Amino acid sequence: MLDLGDYQLRQRDYLLRINQAITAQLDLETVLSLVVRYAVEIVAGNYGFIALYEAPGESAERLRIAVSYQIPPEHYPAFTALLAGLADPRVTREQQARLLWQTAEEVRLPLRQMISLPLLIGQRPIGFIVVFRAAVNVAFTMADESLIAAFAAQAAVAVQNARLYRAAVQEQERLNAIIEQSADGVMIIDHRWRITTFNRAMEQLTGWPREEAIGRPCAEVLGIHNEQGFNICLTACPLQRRPPEPNPTVEGRITTRDGRERYVSSRYSPTYGPHGEFLGAIANVRDITTRKREEQQQATFISVISHELKTPVAIIKGYASTLRRPDANWDQQTIREGLAVIEEEADRLDTLIGNLLDVSRLQAGGLALQLGPVDLPSLAARAVQAIAATASERFEFQIRFPSNMPPVHADEERIRMVLTNLLSNAVKYSPNGGVIRVGGWVDGDQAVVYVADQGIGIAPEDQQRIFERFYRVDNTLGRQTQGAGLGLYLTKAIIEAHGGQIRVESQPGRGARFIFTLPLEHRQLPVAEAANTAAQAQMVADQQDPHASAAANG
Ligand code: ATP
Ligand code: MG
Repeated sequence: MLDLGDYQLRQRDYLLRINQAITAQLDLETVLSLVVRYAVEIVAGNYGFIALYEAPGESAERLRIAVSYQIPPEHYPAFTALLAGLADPRVTREQQARLLWQTAEEVRLPLRQMISLPLLIGQRPIGFIVVFRAAVNVAFTMADESLIAAFAAQAAVAVQNARLYRAAVQEQERLNAIIEQSADGVMIIDHRWRITTFNRAMEQLTGWPREEAIGRPCAEVLGIHNEQGFNICLTACPLQRRPPEPNPTVEGRITTRDGRERYVSSRYSPTYGPHGEFLGAIANVRDITTRKREEQQQATFISVISHELKTPVAIIKGYASTLRRPDANWDQQTIREGLAVIEEEADRLDTLIGNLLDVSRLQAGGLALQLGPVDLPSLAARAVQAIAATASERFEFQIRFPSNMPPVHADEERIRMVLTNLLSNAVKYSPNGGVIRVGGWVDGDQAVVYVADQGIGIAPEDQQRIFERFYRVDNTLGRQTQGAGLGLYLTKAIIEAHGGQIRVESQPGRGARFIFTLPLEHRQLPVAEAANTAAQAQMVADQQDPHASAAANG
């Protein structure tokens, strides 16, 4: 027989091994299996288990066997009543002995003696450790209890650790999910300004795949530039301002990995150590390109409009005051020419103001259209005539529509504006004159219309942008000719309000061709609709002549 000293030695050895298992972060089941095995061995028992309350709550029904020693898991349900007895302080020792006997009978195991101890976290029981002996006459003693108590304490620690760890992992996963799902770009950087976290929005914003961004300096990946073209992140990193600010923010331009230009606003939440040393930061990056473009457009708007309004007013005023000089005696010819210029400039002002009103109407919620059948060939002829009257003789105009071109369903006045805009552009951006062609054809249930010139053309990178408000291509001709950059913006809006589309095909130096679509007045009906209409027509005919249908059917 071992004496008590030997037991304590063995106990210490077992506890050490359990401790190692806990610190090696083995999973909870492995650790608890060790605990129950050593507990059984140290008191010379034969069977044992550890039961835990399923969190939360400590009701007896929630007590489940977590691990066992020499008891097959299929027997676990048979222990339900015994477990409930353990958990209930009102159950007497005799009643427990009876429950043990019943359980032993049911599972056909020699469970003769039982000792149980609660696993405690503070005062709170989180489960039980239970050891059984097969021998009839060898009851458990106080000494056995104190030996097992140390294991119970270890098991409680292991369970607590595992639960805390699981909670921490879940919290981490939850945070990761929040960061990942965030509509804003989120980037975490470490104390050396290197990226450690980079969410999906950040990937979309910067064009950098996360695998490549992580580990790189943030100034390389984000690289916010100011108006002067300096990389603020390199020259004036907001996280290096002294004294440190709680939430420094920078705004500027970035070039994405695939070469796009975006404007971003980046707000940082830095953390500092006890001695003020920088530990890292979370950056919240927002795409403010739309807002920035609007601001730029606003600025352009003011300068373009003031220029565009001032020029004709200055000309009108100049001519008017010259003509009415009391000392001058102008001949009829001069007066007529002067008045013609005044009229022309007044027309230009009128168009510009009309365009501006349309722009504000558009922004306020769309254009109201007065729809009806519109004959494109004659409308095009009138628009061409008006433009040709003011264009130089270097232009030749051609109109080409099929002779049976059906009418479109449109607002005639607006479509005249569209054609006028496109034709006046064709003239304006063809400094050497050339042929300007207008024409169209039918494609399915829509009309396709084009206006083509042989002018300077439009570079691919400008082809989308010319439809933006106030956008004018920055070239010599653009600077020499007048324009607010509104014509195509309004043209596109009008076409789209009709349910059509507009696009441009062009090669720089080789002219431009604008193509748009409009719905036909009598669209071809889809088969089902056509069949219905045919049936309705038949019904109307039947009502008028009750015999006709019967006769036809008969
Ligand atoms: P506005 O029409 O308001 O008087 P605008 O002609 O400059 O001014 P848009 O008609 O919107 O404005 O055209 C925008 C820009 O697209 C023009 O400034 C020009 O650079 C370019 N553009 C338009 N049409 C042509 C064309 N046919 N050929 C070449 N460039 C064109
Ligand atoms: Mg124009």
